[in-house]
Amino acid sequence: MSSIRFKALQEIYNKKPHFVDKIERRSKIFAENVFNETSMRQFMSEAAYKNIKDAVTLGKKIDRKQADHIAVGMKNWAISKGATHYTHWFQPLTGSTAEKHDAFFSLTEEGIPVERFDGSQLVQQEPDASSFPSGGIRNTFEARGYTAWDPSSPAFVYGSTLCIPTIFVSYTGEALDTKTPLLRALSAIDSAATEVVKYFDKNVTKVNATLGWEQEFFLVDKGLAYSRPDILMAGRTMLGHAPAKGQQLDDHYFGSIPSRVIGFLRELEIECMRLGIPVKTRHNEVAPNQFELAPIHEEANLAVDHNSLIMDVMDKTADKHQFKILFHEKPFAGINGSGKHNNWSLTTGAGVNLLSPGTTPMKNLQFLTFFINTIKAVHENEELLRASVASAGNDHRLGANEAPPAIISVFIGEQLTKVLDELEGVSKGKLSPQEKTALKLNVVGKIPDVLLDNTDRNRTSAFAFTGNKFEFRAVGSKANCGSAMTVLNTIVAKQLQNFKKEVDALIDKKGLKKDEAVFNVLREYIKASKKIRFEGDGYSIDWENEAKRRGISNYKNTPDALKVMKSKKAIALFEETGVMNEAELRARFEIELEEYAKKIQIESRILGDIANNHVVPTAIRYQNLLIKNVQGLKDIFGATFRTVGAEQLDLIEQIANHIAMIKKKSDLMRNERKKANGISDAHKLAEAYCYRVKPYFEDIRYHCDKLELLVEDDIWPLTKYRELLFMR
Ligand code: ADP
Ligand code: MG
Repeated sequence: MSSIRFKALQEIYNKKPHFVDKIERRSKIFAENVFNETSMRQFMSEAAYKNIKDAVTLGKKIDRKQADHIAVGMKNWAISKGATHYTHWFQPLTGSTAEKHDAFFSLTEEGIPVERFDGSQLVQQEPDASSFPSGGIRNTFEARGYTAWDPSSPAFVYGSTLCIPTIFVSYTGEALDTKTPLLRALSAIDSAATEVVKYFDKNVTKVNATLGWEQEFFLVDKGLAYSRPDILMAGRTMLGHAPAKGQQLDDHYFGSIPSRVIGFLRELEIECMRLGIPVKTRHNEVAPNQFELAPIHEEANLAVDHNSLIMDVMDKTADKHQFKILFHEKPFAGINGSGKHNNWSLTTGAGVNLLSPGTTPMKNLQFLTFFINTIKAVHENEELLRASVASAGNDHRLGANEAPPAIISVFIGEQLTKVLDELEGVSKGKLSPQEKTALKLNVVGKIPDVLLDNTDRNRTSAFAFTGNKFEFRAVGSKANCGSAMTVLNTIVAKQLQNFKKEVDALIDKKGLKKDEAVFNVLREYIKASKKIRFEGDGYSIDWENEAKRRGISNYKNTPDALKVMKSKKAIALFEETGVMNEAELRARFEIELEEYAKKIQIESRILGDIANNHVVPTAIRYQNLLIKNVQGLKDIFGATFRTVGAEQLDLIEQIANHIAMIKKKSDLMRNERKKANGISDAHKLAEAYCYRVKPYFEDIRYHCDKLELLVEDDIWPLTKYRELLFMR
C-alpha cells in the first residue's frame, strides 16, 4: 500500500501545467453552446419562438404541435454544434445531476438512417426512476416518475449531448427533485413581491429573485488523492496528522495562483463561457490548496442550474488536469472548510434591484420595505433556513468552531442599524406633516450616502446585508443551492403576503395614507424582529450564550436541525405558498435523514477499514523492527539493554497502546453500527448514527494520528497532509 503513496509522490514531479492553446475573447464565445435568444431566432420559426417566449415570461402552456416545431429547431441547432445525443438533465434528491443519453439517430421503417427528435421527447420523458430517492412518495402513490421540460432554463450542448433542463416529478405530480419546489417558490415570491412593489411603482409586473453563488473547493493532485481510500470514497480525509505548517501564516489567501491550477481554471472558464455561465472572479482561499470561483449573479433558477452544471464541469476538467476536486465541506481537519455563499436579491422585470437604496425618499422606502421584510422573514423562520443547509458534511462547519456558526442571525451594519432605530420611533397611526418631512429628509433620504460608507463587513454572520443584497453564508460547498433558495424565497414570499395584508388593512380600515401605513407596519416589524439582528463576533462563545437567551436555535447536527421540517408551522408555510404539500415535505425530511445516516455509515466503514487494515498492520511492522532492534541490543549489552534501548522500549509500548485502543474503539463502533442498522424509523436511525456511531471517529482518528507521528515515514501507507496540501 505504501507503494501507491510513493508512486504518486514520484509522479507529481513530472506533472506540468497544461494550458489550452488558444485564448479567445470571452465575449465572443459566451453562450455559444446555449440555445438562447439568438440561436432560437436562427433555428426556429417566428411562431415557435413566440411560444417559448410566452411560456417563459407568461407561464403559458406549450401544446404538442408547437413542441414539435420547437424540437426540430432545437435538434438542428444542437447538431450544428456537434451533438449526437440528447438528454433530460435534472436534479434528483441525490444532490447531483442526472442524465440519460439517447441518440438522435434513428431508422425509418424502410431502414433509412435519420436524425430524429420530436416534441414529445422534448417535453416529457420517463427515466427509470426507481433508483432515485423518493422518500416513500412513489411507494404510496404510483411507482413511476417523469421529467418535464423547464423552458425557463435554456437547453445547452455539453460535450456531444444536448442537455434539456427538466423537473422530475412523480406521476401524481409530487416533486422528486430540487428544481420543482424552487420553481414554485420563485413563482410565489414573484407574485408576492410584485404586489408589494406596486405600492411604489404601479408599472411593475414581474419580480425575479437573483442569486450569485461563490463556490469554494479544494484541488488535490489526482495521484495523491487516489492513494487515500477516504478521499476516494468519502470525499474527505478521515485521519491524518496536522502538518507543521497549515494556514497560520495567511500566505495562501489571494496569493499568486499556482500554474497547474491556472491551467485548470483557464480551461474551466472557457468551457463555462461556452455554456453561458458568467464566471468572473477566481482566487486562492484561506486554506492551502483551497480556491474560490464566482460568477455574475443571474435569475435564481438559472443560477442554481449553472451551479449544478459547473460542479460537474469542474469535476471533469480537474480530472483532465490531473487534479481531484473536493467539494466536501471539510476535507481536512484543522484548516478551513468550504462553503458556498449565496448572494440573494430581488429585481424587477425592468432590472431595478429592490434591495438597493434609490435616489428618492420613495425609492428608499421601497428599499426599506424589502430589507425589513427579509429580516422579519429570517426572524420568523431561522430554523427552516438552518434546516435548508443541513448535511453530514456541513455539520463539520456549522457550529463546529468554524465559519459560519450554526446560529442564523442577520448582520446589517452600524449605519442601517441607526436607520432602523430611528424608524422605530415613528408615531403610531397618522403622521404629522412635520414628522413626515423629517423622516424623509433625515432618515429615509440619507440612506444612499450612508451605505457607501458602510464598509465594515462582518464576516462571522450567517446572513449578512452587503450593500445591495443579502449573503447567506451557511450553505455547504457541496450542496445544491436549490434547497436554500427554495426556503429563502418561500419565507420572504410569505412575509411579503402578510405585509401586504397588514398595510392594506391600515389603509382600508384606519384610513391611513399609503406611506403612513407602510411606516407603521415596518415600525412594528423592526421591533418584533430585533432579536435576530446581531452585529458582534458570531464565532464567540458569548454569542452562543446570548443567542440562547434570545431563544434563537443552535442545532449542531443534521438530525436535530431537520426536525423543524415536521412542524405544523413549516407544513402550513409550504402549503399556503404552494411550494410543497405535506407529503412532499415529509418525503424530503426522510430522504435527508436517510442520506445522513448512509453517509455516516459509509464513513464509519471506511475509517474502520483504514484503521485496521492500513494503520494497525503498518504499526505492527514498525513495532517488529523495534523489537528486533531491542533483541539485538540485548545480545550486545546483556542486562543493561533496558537502559540503552529505553527509547525503543517506550515506543514499542506506546505503539501497543495505540493499537489496542484502535482495536477496542473500532469494535465498539462496529457494534453501534449493527445496533443502528436495526432501526427502521429514519429519524431515530440518523440520531443513532449521529450520537452513537460518529463520536468514535475522533477517538479512532486520535490514535491513528499518533501512530503516524511514531511510525517511520518510509513505510507509512497513507499520503500525508503536507503532501496533499502543499504539493501540486
Ligand atoms: P465577497 O463576498 O467575496 O466579498 P462580494 O460581496 O463582492 O464578494 O460578492 C460577490 C458576489 O455577489 C458575486 O457572486 C455576485 O454575483 C453576487 N451579487 C452581486 N450583486 C448581486 C445581486 N443583486 N443579487 C445576487 N447576487 C449578487
Ligand atoms: Mg461572499
